[in-house]
Amino acid sequence: MRALVFETFGGPLTVQEVPAPDPAPGGVVLRVGATGVCRSDWHAWQGHDPDVVLPHVPGHELAGTVAAVGAGVRRWRAGDRVTVPFVNACGRCAQCAAGEHQVCDRQTQPGFAHWGSMAQYVALDAADVNLVALPAGLDDATAAALGCRVATAFRAVVQVARVRPGEWVAVHGCGGVGLSAVQVALAAGARVVAVDVSPAARALAADLGAEHALDGPAAIPELTGGGAHVSLDAAGAVAACEDSVRCLRPRGRHVQVGLLPPAQGRPAVPMDLVVARELQVLGSHGMAAHAYPELLGLVAAGRLRPQALVTRELGLDEAGAALAAVGRAPGVAVVTRF
Ligand SMILES: [Zn+2]
Ligand SMILES: [Zn+2]
Repeated sequence: MRALVFETFGGPLTVQEVPAPDPAPGGVVLRVGATGVCRSDWHAWQGHDPDVVLPHVPGHELAGTVAAVGAGVRRWRAGDRVTVPFVNACGRCAQCAAGEHQVCDRQTQPGFAHWGSMAQYVALDAADVNLVALPAGLDDATAAALGCRVATAFRAVVQVARVRPGEWVAVHGCGGVGLSAVQVALAAGARVVAVDVSPAARALAADLGAEHALDGPAAIPELTGGGAHVSLDAAGAVAACEDSVRCLRPRGRHVQVGLLPPAQGRPAVPMDLVVARELQVLGSHGMAAHAYPELLGLVAAGRLRPQALVTRELGLDEAGAALAAVGRAPGVAVVTRF
């Protein structure tokens, strides 16, 4: 099969012919229909993820069609169109037993723990636990976003922050997950202030309905009448994390969504403010497959429009350049030709 490969961290990203995977027991192999280009892929390429073994194929934000089914899989057969959360849960550990598959103790992640979806085929583990059937009206390029950026934003805003109608939500970093968070927060009835240094990213946030789109956080307390109720670091950057905590009103909730690998430095979270204002500092990590029906319902009803975030559809030959440019080009790139 054709796949995007890197053999050294930060080194060349080239399309190569490599062996196609076989399904593991309990797993499947998908023919990839679409795979989004995400900042996490960039981190994998840069060597920020200790799970990545070279040579490596990135890609974790995917949709496609089941091509082969491993022994013991009950719910899926060849031809089924599916997506999958980027955290592939084991289905058997204590976290999974509690329904918290997104923090599974024995999770695997395509594109990190094993070869990912920037390829014609990708293997996925524990198919009966992790695969999510796609409705006929949802195309692969849109559905790919549900594997990472939209599901991550949905869980962060709705399930972790528990945003209520009328609350102010600040979104720091308007890449794929940040713009998705803008959409989700608006769908939840919140008012949104978006922050990004890129004028193009701010324009996208404003187009989606953000009430304010700022190049820095300084005006947030005034614009929101005392600070945001909820604030997200959707960039995964030291400064964005600190800005997010500082822009909250008393009793506000910070949600860390971006990855913040230690190789890029540790944020100095102002714990004095956390105490004095009784702030909550929360983490959010993907979303369990069983939580997808509510998200799919919002997409079907048109209240969430992941397709509005897709600014470029690429061939696999263009994926390497797009991955290397993550954060520099506004909007979301999705590979749809393999
Ligand atoms: Zn991602
Ligand atoms: Zn588990």
